[in-house]
Amino acid sequence: MRKCLLVWVLLCTGMTLWAQSGEDRKLEKLKAEVQEKVEGRAKMAQVMVDKIFSFAELGFQEYASSKYLTDILEENGFTIEHGISDVPTAWWAKWGNGKPVIAVGSDLDCIPKASQKPGVAYHDPQIEGAPGHGEGHNSGIPLNIVAAISVKEIMEREGIPGTLILWPGVAEELVGTKAYFTRDGYFDEVDMCIFTHVSNNMTVSWGQARGTGLISVEYTFEGEAAHAAGSPWRGRSSLDAVELMSIGWQYQREHLDPIQRSHHVIKNGGDQPNVVPSEASIWFYLRNVTYPRIMEMYEKCNNIADGAALMTGTEVKRKVLGSAWPRHFNQVIAETMYQNIRQVGLPEWSEADQTLARALQREVNSPRDTNGLSTKLDTIGLPISRPISGGSDDIGDISWKLPTVTLRFPANIPGLQGHHWSNAVAMATPIAHKGVVAGAKAEAMTLLDFFLKPELVDQAWEYFRNEQGMKQKYVPMVTEEDKPATYLNKDIMETYRKEMEALYYDETKYDTYLEQLGIKYPTVRED
Ligand SMILES: [Zn+2]
Repeated sequence: MRKCLLVWVLLCTGMTLWAQSGEDRKLEKLKAEVQEKVEGRAKMAQVMVDKIFSFAELGFQEYASSKYLTDILEENGFTIEHGISDVPTAWWAKWGNGKPVIAVGSDLDCIPKASQKPGVAYHDPQIEGAPGHGEGHNSGIPLNIVAAISVKEIMEREGIPGTLILWPGVAEELVGTKAYFTRDGYFDEVDMCIFTHVSNNMTVSWGQARGTGLISVEYTFEGEAAHAAGSPWRGRSSLDAVELMSIGWQYQREHLDPIQRSHHVIKNGGDQPNVVPSEASIWFYLRNVTYPRIMEMYEKCNNIADGAALMTGTEVKRKVLGSAWPRHFNQVIAETMYQNIRQVGLPEWSEADQTLARALQREVNSPRDTNGLSTKLDTIGLPISRPISGGSDDIGDISWKLPTVTLRFPANIPGLQGHHWSNAVAMATPIAHKGVVAGAKAEAMTLLDFFLKPELVDQAWEYFRNEQGMKQKYVPMVTEEDKPATYLNKDIMETYRKEMEALYYDETKYDTYLEQLGIKYPTVRED
């Protein structure tokens, strides 16, 4: 009897294993197929990347980019909700049925004054003073679209259940929208999120990420105007308050933990010297590595604002213009994705790609990277043992709302300073085009992993609930009363848009944007 039972147990386990390996074989076959499908859309990827590069729209003003991308998604069977969270350039594109619901997102906006001719390894703006893709946000959504429609084709044919969502990180440079999306419930029904961000290698990480979160606040002081020479004693200067607040914060800085980052600009400092400024404002980014530390800095900054108002007899109002939680990424999604990244590997760079990269690294005096593009695949990013300061991204908010990772894909050149014209150089060249295709393959394969093995989604939630969320409860830094600052950058885009329109990429006439601009690839200094 016991023997019989043993045989029966062995038989059952054997059958399950056999069935499992059958499923795994099917998954591997579909993953091989989806890579080919992505490769077959390399031309589509290039056109989208070049097109968004040529639109070069600043945060909240991504009208041409969003229209162009949502039209493509609509043609490919997605249903679009426009203007989510009262942001005109934001959208929510949906296809499919049932669970799991997987959202893929990426940023869209560019950098002020970063206009630059692609493929040219020295500063040569397309339009002097105009915005440009000096971070490379023109590449992430094209990647997501190529991956999503390749996966969708397979899901349709195979009858695989699940829902795909695509969404844009509007105004990421202002960390302006993602907290509103979570506040307004857009991610409530979503099971997991894959975010993509341009990089110079391909990897993914889990645990607390490098970098900070932040709150972006503008303090506006109201005083009293007066003739600055005739009756200055009758004026109360809002500009004095702004300057005192700036100095106050500089003194505060000595007593802040050194891991913080804080910086400000004065965009409104009055009108002309002979009028005592009745209104002036100062805009701060306050960054730190945990949510409580960010809120502590915010309170200190508010006190300094009140002090400056008291000293000058002015009144101060504050407005939150953006916010971002520090990022924490999901172990299960990251480890699954990294297996796919290893299979895909880095793109093959041509001699022309490498010549451009090395010349640009020389041009900007890159401190470490002088040897061109990455040729050795990065390792997976593990949790950092001590927090490391640096930049922020409001994907942090999504990463505290549901299991999330960021796929970093190899579409740019190592060793550049970021938020700079040099970061635009590669972004409408074969470097970006190839990097996007590689990233799309890794993303598409990962989507198949999670659609075909929904138990992985449960495991991702186990990590999210039991490992990540134990110590910290997520509350968006924006309140119910706060509204997205959609008016930002409007004036700048109005100044340049006409001139920029003449340079929009016309894919019906030119194979590539480089061809349209008549740029020899690569263009490097002759020495
Ligand atoms: Zn970015």
